[in-house]
Amino acid sequence: MNSDLMNGLGTNNSIRTMQFPGIVRSKLPNVGTTIFTVMSGLAREHGAINLSQGFPDFSIPDRLGELVAEKMRKGHNQYSPMPGLPALREAISLKVQELYSATYDPQDEVTVTAGATQAIFTAIMALVQEGDEVVVFEPAYDCYVPAIELAGGKAIFVQMEPTGVLIDWEYVKRVINQRTRMIIINTPNNPTGRIMSAQDMVRLQKLTERTDIIILSDEVYEHILFDGYEHQSVSRYPKLAERSVVVSSFGKTYHCTGWKVGHVLAPKELMREFRKTHQFNVFSVNTPVQHALAEFLSERQHYLGLGTFYQSKRDLFLKLIKDSRFKVRPSEGTYFQLLDYSAITDEKDTDYANRLTKEAGVASIPLSVFYHRPTPMTQLRFCFAKEDETLERAAEILNKL
Ligand code: PMP
Ligand code: GLN
Repeated sequence: MNSDLMNGLGTNNSIRTMQFPGIVRSKLPNVGTTIFTVMSGLAREHGAINLSQGFPDFSIPDRLGELVAEKMRKGHNQYSPMPGLPALREAISLKVQELYSATYDPQDEVTVTAGATQAIFTAIMALVQEGDEVVVFEPAYDCYVPAIELAGGKAIFVQMEPTGVLIDWEYVKRVINQRTRMIIINTPNNPTGRIMSAQDMVRLQKLTERTDIIILSDEVYEHILFDGYEHQSVSRYPKLAERSVVVSSFGKTYHCTGWKVGHVLAPKELMREFRKTHQFNVFSVNTPVQHALAEFLSERQHYLGLGTFYQSKRDLFLKLIKDSRFKVRPSEGTYFQLLDYSAITDEKDTDYANRLTKEAGVASIPLSVFYHRPTPMTQLRFCFAKEDETLERAAEILNKL
């Protein structure tokens, strides 16, 4: 991630380095504090409406909160089994079977994680070795590349086209070689709001056939697709599923990003390796929440209705800003919308995002930070997982720009 905006805004590392030269040898010399922390901090400091970091400003379903409280009261407060509570793993397995016709054995092929970030980190640590190459599509969510580097691997970047044909598979074919260990995909995609199609999945399948490439599929927005699109989980494609680690997050599905609970699906052999690292990374995950989720997962309407719920948020946001000078390609999924500001200013996106937060009072995320090297961009990412009233207040400001 390009950390222009973040340099100097992080911890006290530089002070310590000066006092003890030679003691700090950074394993991630080019990494600062994540943009989400930086922009949310800036929003707080300036009292801006925070459409930057992705999280809802509305509550979790009441019953889910009640269930967690009840599970705590009933004494489910000690370690759960290392791979996750059996009842939750069974509920996840059932859900995936129903949605994607994919069979994952709850015993050996489903693991509950401390959110998707830990799942992704653990998968990369467990499966990528020194010198391995990992294909990363850009713009890319920020946690992939640092994990690859910490594992001793090398990220090989392939540019996506946020406003056109998303992935040039002929180009991907050219970058794949014997050193390629993993390909990371993310659909629906953060930050572009684009989704991968069935044709994309078929191309990916063809490309990886007869290779030992692992797919790490980040599907945290699996229930947030719009306009009738269906989520193309790798788990729908048996030939892909057999080489894939699939990651999801309850945080996105139940409006509880702060709980940090997610899960991983993978064939037994891959999952065995995943768990070897997972057990020393977190061991196990919040027990009362797992008990509550195990029960709540059977109430299908919550995740089945999520696409419709967020589509009306997206549509409201776009309607509210339709007379603004931003150019829009409506999001196909996620709870993010990219807005092109080239008709307003020719400032760098990092500068404009900063200024918008400080002077206008709306915080967003500049698109260029999702690229490994400075890439001129004229788009900002706005999170519309907000109360209608929050979106109305933000739109009022955006319309005046
Ligand atoms: N992947 C993507 C694409 C995300 O947007 C996020 C966070 N919103 C994550 C992974 C991490 O999810 P979690 O909060 O469950 O760690
Ligand atoms: N995934 C969220 C986003 O894209 C942020 C999560 C985080 O702050 N690490 O905004």
